[in-house]
Parts: sequence; C-alpha cells; structure tokens
Amino acid sequence: MQKIKQLHSKKAKKIFLEYLSSHNIFEKTKDKLIEIKNKYPNTFSKEINFMIDNVENFFITPPKMFDKIIKNLPEINNEIKYILLGLSLNNSSYYMTSEIKKYFTNLYFGFTTRPRGFSSDLLKVFGLKCCPYCNLFKLDSKIGGLSYEIMHLDHFYNRALYPYFSVSLYNFIPCCATCNSCYKREKDFFEIKHINPHFESFDSAVKFSFEMINQDIFSENQSFYICFSAKNSRKLSFQKALNCIETFDLVKRYNKEFPTILNIFYFGFCITKIKLTKFLIYLKNAMLKTFQNLILKNMRTANF
Ligand SMILES: [Zn+2]
Repeated sequence: MQKIKQLHSKKAKKIFLEYLSSHNIFEKTKDKLIEIKNKYPNTFSKEINFMIDNVENFFITPPKMFDKIIKNLPEINNEIKYILLGLSLNNSSYYMTSEIKKYFTNLYFGFTTRPRGFSSDLLKVFGLKCCPYCNLFKLDSKIGGLSYEIMHLDHFYNRALYPYFSVSLYNFIPCCATCNSCYKREKDFFEIKHINPHFESFDSAVKFSFEMINQDIFSENQSFYICFSAKNSRKLSFQKALNCIETFDLVKRYNKEFPTILNIFYFGFCITKIKLTKFLIYLKNAMLKTFQNLILKNMRTANF
C-alpha cells in the first residue's frame, strides 16, 4: 500500500490553500455557521461553537487530527446517522444538521465541478504512481494503467457520515474506481480503523509472503499463492492493515492478478519468459528465502 510522500503533501497543501483563499472558503464557511447558529439558537450549541472556532481545521487538518475532531461533534454525528436512517431527534436538530450537510456538500460539488474541476489538478499533485489502497492499478503504466482523469477521489472519512470533511485536503485519497466503488463504498473508517495512506505505511505492519504451488509459472494453474503475514501482530497498525486486506479483498485480488504481476516483470524489466522461469525455478530450489525477499522487495519498490 503506497504512502503519500510528505513532499507531495506539502505541494498539495500549497495549491489547496490557494484554492481556498481564492474562493474565500474560510470566511464563507464561518459566516454560514454563524448564520445557522443564530437560526437554531439552542441546538447543538457546543458543537456549532466548536465548528465556528475551528473552521480552518475542517479543510486542512493534519491527517492524525480527524478522529479528535469527529469526537468533538457527537450530537451532530448522531443526528446525521438518524437522518441517513430516515429518522430524526426533533425538527430543529434535523433542519440544523441538514443545513450544515447541504452547505459542505455544495462546497464539494463546486470543488469537483466538471468539465475540469480543481480536484483533477489535485490528483496529479499527490504524485501517486498507483492506487494507494490496492497497488494494482498503476498510473500511466505501459500495461493497462490508469490516467489521472479516471482516478477517483475517495473520502477516507465517508462524506455522507462526515459531511464537514467533504472538502478536506487530507481526507482525499486518490484511488482506483474499483477500490472506491466496489470495495470501500460507504464503509466508516472512523469506526473501523484502516491504514491512512497520508501518514501510515502498509509495509510497516505486514509483509508479503507466498507459497509455490506449481513449478510452471506460466501454466494455466496458479503457481504461487500470495498471502500476508504480520511484522508485529501487537501493533495497532497490524489490525488496521488486516482491516485493509479485508475491506479491499487484497488476498483474493492479488492472487487473481498474479499473472499480471509476472507480466509486469516480463515487460517492465525486459526479462524473457524462459529466463524468468529458469530464474524462479533455480531460486525456488536453491534459495527460496532470498528469492522471496528479492522479488517481494522489487514488488514493493515497483509499487505493486
Ligand atoms: Zn485500488
């Protein structure tokens, strides 16, 4: 799982701040929240005051701070869940929360306005070489890669549940359509913790491992079975990594894609099939352990 580099994060922050300031987003948001507070004077006062006092943090909060902000807004979060279930605590809380949600949702639509919204520029600045959730789809790869235009901008904290993070720089995770639409969907990453590509690395928690099933690596039958093992099973990051493996169905997808990975070695590193097969069999017989380290290190380096 690819981590977003600090350098790219800084560049993204710079252009994101320019976008916010050119659209007066901080001022507009503060004014809107004050307007909502005055309209519903006795509703969620603690939460709305917190939002007014921390307006900037809803847009550029550091990745590690999201959980703290969410914990400061329990009543609004509950109300949003009620609304999503078609329920409501009372009229005033319903209308107030709906207005907050609508405001941030509209901001998001402005941000992604087609044909060419600011969001597509941001994707490029993050400098990813492939989808950070699955590492299966490469950007601009010679072999079936994605282009920036068709990458999705996922909200790490689901924007239906946490609309106030709809336009939050470090809540954006550029990823492939498959991860976003087929696997991540509406999952709540606040309730079930996952590796956040903005500051955590999958590699620090787990390592690839595999078993050789069949010597003919180009046969129709699978020759390797890829799995994961823990580097330190007591770490919280290990549990987060396990949740990622489950959410994005990585074991199944990696085993399905393994022939593609071999093809990338074949094309990407210009190794002939015969040489690659001989090489793998020789290593399997002679020094499987070293081979594992070698090929898996290359897989990580090449961002598979
Ligand atoms: Zn993906």
